[in-house]
Amino acid sequence: MSCRLVARRRLLPAIVVVGLAVAGAAAQQQRPRIPPTGTIKKIRDDLYVIPGAGGNTTVFVTQGGVVLVDTKLPNNGEAILNQVRSVTDKPVSTIVNTHSHPDHVGSNEYFPASVDVVTHENTRKWMAANPRVASNPAAMPDRTFTDRMTLGSGDDRIDLYYFGAGHTNGDAFVVFPVPRAMAAGDMFAWKMAPLIDPMAGGSVLALPDSLEKALNVIPDVDTVIEGHGDLNTWEGFRDYVQFNRALVDAAKAGMGKKTAEEIAAGLKPKFPVFTKEELLTDMEYGGTPLSRAVINVNVAFQELGKR
Ligand SMILES: [Zn+2]
Repeated sequence: MSCRLVARRRLLPAIVVVGLAVAGAAAQQQRPRIPPTGTIKKIRDDLYVIPGAGGNTTVFVTQGGVVLVDTKLPNNGEAILNQVRSVTDKPVSTIVNTHSHPDHVGSNEYFPASVDVVTHENTRKWMAANPRVASNPAAMPDRTFTDRMTLGSGDDRIDLYYFGAGHTNGDAFVVFPVPRAMAAGDMFAWKMAPLIDPMAGGSVLALPDSLEKALNVIPDVDTVIEGHGDLNTWEGFRDYVQFNRALVDAAKAGMGKKTAEEIAAGLKPKFPVFTKEELLTDMEYGGTPLSRAVINVNVAFQELGKR
């Protein structure tokens, strides 16, 4: 095993430990760590989101059936379907997974094997490496894409985009051109610096490049559905992209001279939303926005140290 791999393997447990420590503090305040599958909310005609139980599930009702983007943690398939049934009787025809994490692919297995599962090719690779997912052929992708893929046409059109590594190295942006909406997966979640998963190819140094490509290439989106948490706007997404660029630039400039805490604090005046010091409601993985920014500066130090 190379030094690079050894270092990367040490990094994720450190992030998880930080996250769990903060989540433990939150639990002592009677905060539910992971809320259950919530009530479906309408975004636009034929477009909905189901919060809770892991990542957001986007629901798009097309002529040919219901398209789901992400399926939450395991054992939430029935709860997802019950929410879908409150808005349409059409069958689920397609699942798009934004990436391979269990809180986004966990309930794929509930849906019949006839459902078309679509992911980025690297996400398929990570799903195949997860015995729980790989042991169930119905949960695995039927089709993959590399840079772009279009599903459906006219009012039902969905465009899938991949712009490079960030949260993992298989994060899809799922765009609904007619309702002018985008599901961003965990490339943009909880209005804070994203978790970087080096074990699934994630990279904080690549993140701003990938996000800027999305910002520059994807046209005509008004509503952004974050991977977890509330909806956002395209302007909110632009601010977030600029924040992640500023974080990496500041980490590069400050490495060896300042601490991660000092660097993250330096982002506060320009990016107050992404550097809040309060825990947010229903934060499943714990941590304040500022603490997540500090983690990502440290991840940047690690990645820069390996260059
Ligand atoms: Zn994730």
